[in-house]
Amino acid sequence: MRDETIAIHAGYESDPTTHAVAVPIYQTVAYEFDNAQHGADLFNLAVPGNIYTRIMNPTNDVLEKRVAALENGIAGLALSAGSAAVNYSILTIAEAGNNVVSVPLLYGGTYTLFAHMLPKQGIEVRFAEDDSPASLERLIDGKTIAVFAETIGNPAGNIADIEAISDMAHSHGVPVIVDSTVTPPPLLKPIDYGVDIVVHSMTKYMGGHGNSLGGVIVDSGKFPWTEHAAKYPGLTQPEPAYHGIVYSAALGPAAYIGRVRTVPLRNTGSALSPFNAFLLLQGLETLPLRMERHVDNAMAVANHLQSHSQVAWVQYAGLPDSKYYDLAQKYTNGRPSALLSFGVKGGYDAGVKFYDALKLFKRLVNIGDAKSLAAHPASTTHRQLNEAEQAGAGVTPDMIRLCVGIEHIEDIVADVDQALAAAR
Ligand SMILES: *Cc1c(COP(=O)(O)O)cnc(C)c1O
Repeated sequence: MRDETIAIHAGYESDPTTHAVAVPIYQTVAYEFDNAQHGADLFNLAVPGNIYTRIMNPTNDVLEKRVAALENGIAGLALSAGSAAVNYSILTIAEAGNNVVSVPLLYGGTYTLFAHMLPKQGIEVRFAEDDSPASLERLIDGKTIAVFAETIGNPAGNIADIEAISDMAHSHGVPVIVDSTVTPPPLLKPIDYGVDIVVHSMTKYMGGHGNSLGGVIVDSGKFPWTEHAAKYPGLTQPEPAYHGIVYSAALGPAAYIGRVRTVPLRNTGSALSPFNAFLLLQGLETLPLRMERHVDNAMAVANHLQSHSQVAWVQYAGLPDSKYYDLAQKYTNGRPSALLSFGVKGGYDAGVKFYDALKLFKRLVNIGDAKSLAAHPASTTHRQLNEAEQAGAGVTPDMIRLCVGIEHIEDIVADVDQALAAAR
């Protein structure tokens, strides 16, 4: 089936008991055992079934199957937020003394986790000079357990060459984890390009309506953990945190995603509420349709801005003069999501004036909502950094970042034009 169909149907057939067509919200904490043997079999992962909602829930299960189907993975795990998905994606395989090699420009929360939190647990994160496979490769050694990248960076708009990065990492026996929040299916499916693990903040485009936090990890099932057994004892040796199970033996290609569920999630509890899973499923049904409109509108706004006399520069990888144009063609068929940034002539003050004059665009820190959203990083998210640090994060004083929504394009352009007039 195609994405439009998968997004609506995958992972669910009408409930066998009630015949409910919409996915029911299983708002329960626990599930009853038939008897002691049934309970024992469930705990031994010997039979499928539910135990406790911190580790599994039937509503969340539909969401996990649907996202895994959209991403061409073998299984998914839903979590309370995208941040939890990023954290667990690393913690599942990292031990003190290991390192992760990462691209330098990252979502702010991920950067803070990598730069200031994981190192305190003995997990070093090595930031490459730039996104290139060669820069990442220079930092890999025998203790590297993953390479981490984002498909399209926010707010810088940098695009990672994930196929080249995957080929490079695999030649060193290292898996690649990619945050694809900005480019959900059908825009891009990283597993098709060799990526091993995909994470998303479902809070953004997948949910699509700015009403629920959620995260997901999708496992390709393709990384050969047992060929590098010494580096991944958590997947290939008896696991004391789950009564001695050997994940690679018990779960085969699903070893990684099984361990995320039964070690980090089971013991530290960033579980997704089934109510949020229901809302995220509602969003997912229209994801392919919404992404089409998001990108059409972003492309139109980018073209409009580029021809406007008050605009100093526009960065959108769908424009032929972007340095990421070729990568956008390769990975998103020339449709690189709906985040774009531009500079208002007049610097910081003009940027603030433009920002304050917006009427339709919401001033906030979020992306991927049906509504059009705007940020002025220099006065908000990045204001605690000096100008050199801002430049390092891809932020300039005049920079406005737009996340173009799915309203009528003429209303969106009219709001941009009146705000530019106010900034004159
Ligand atoms: C928002 C975001 C996150 C964090 O997700 P939350 O759901 O807010 O925890 C991670 N990565 C990217 C690229 C994001 O945009």
